[in-house]
Amino acid sequence: MLVRRVVSTTSFPKLFGCSYSSFSKIGSFASYTSSPASSLSPKHEEYSYRNENELAEINWDELRFGLVPTDCMYVMKSSQDGEFTHGELRNFDNIKLNPSSGVLNYGQGLYEGLKASRKREEGGLLLFRVEENAMRMKMGADRMFMPSPSLDQFIHAVKLTVLANKRWVPPHGKGSLYVRPLLIGSGPILGLAPSPEYMFLVYASPVGNYFKEGLAPINLLVADKTHRAMPGGTGGVKTICNYAPVLKAQMQAKSKGFSDVLFLDAVNNKYLEEASSCNIFIVKGNVISTPATNGTILPGITRKSIIEIASDLGYQVEERLVPVEELSDADEVFCTGTAVVVAPVASISYNDKRYTFKTGKETVSKRLYNTLTAIQMGLVQDNKGWTLEI
Ligand SMILES: *Cc1c(COP(=O)(O)O)cnc(C)c1O
Repeated sequence: MLVRRVVSTTSFPKLFGCSYSSFSKIGSFASYTSSPASSLSPKHEEYSYRNENELAEINWDELRFGLVPTDCMYVMKSSQDGEFTHGELRNFDNIKLNPSSGVLNYGQGLYEGLKASRKREEGGLLLFRVEENAMRMKMGADRMFMPSPSLDQFIHAVKLTVLANKRWVPPHGKGSLYVRPLLIGSGPILGLAPSPEYMFLVYASPVGNYFKEGLAPINLLVADKTHRAMPGGTGGVKTICNYAPVLKAQMQAKSKGFSDVLFLDAVNNKYLEEASSCNIFIVKGNVISTPATNGTILPGITRKSIIEIASDLGYQVEERLVPVEELSDADEVFCTGTAVVVAPVASISYNDKRYTFKTGKETVSKRLYNTLTAIQMGLVQDNKGWTLEI
């Protein structure tokens, strides 16, 4: 059955291109409306999506953290004056870039990551703290000397991308739709200088657990020769430049059976910073400590949320310098990030020593994980206004 209501396309001129192609490809259907009176999605001002229950035909039980191509992506370019205009949904596909584009030659690029979850009943979708991602991209764009979409443009693009790929949002409890906004210098440049044009792109992929261990505890190796960030550098923003340089250390650790590397500060080689794509917390009694974000650590939105949840639950939360030696008497260690959520750490290896930590059901990290995911999945009332239902 194919039901489609054709409505005004003035605000989203190219929208139907992307949805039409998904009709013909898989026989599912989507419909958007610009009418605020839409009855099926009252919270949505400008558009809504029909056929709430249609799901893509993949094995949802085998989802891992890997790319599953979805139907649509959102693309918007900046003009010379740095204004982003004419955003549109397109079929998910390769993009064309000039070989001399700023991102390919000089690494002018940023990414973001957030998740959309399906609520238990009626399949409503929840975005988690999307405005935080929008603000972080703006801060990162400033550091990388790039213009950025406005907060409203960012949030609008994420909503559109999620709704257009709704059938790829896993069933409740099976995972989530990972949304990846990108901001890249797309214009041609030869001498080192900012790109003359920028592209803002949003794509999405259904994901399950990040580590191959699933929800099982992970094992980290302290990187003793590689650093991911330095004072005055870009460690505090989600620029693509921060990630390729850690691959070698990460792959060496993985080849020895570790899940990821843990970085120390570059000046003293002594204080904990974070893992390659997640923040770290240590637990000792009622005190939960995490390295303060001083420009070399990515200010994670999960980190920020866990700090608040832990304080609410009565823990004493400290953001400070955390010397690596403190691992020797920590009760628990866990990592946080959108992709990993709250990942318990079973062991950290450093200088031929292996520190082990408490894991399992009766742990602080499990309690924090349960509290956070209940909000993210809409299992409890969101008193904090962290979720946005679309
Ligand atoms: C993205 C990221 C995190 C986690 O940030 P969230 O907003 O919680 O997803 C932590 N560290 C690094 C290096 C990251 O890139």
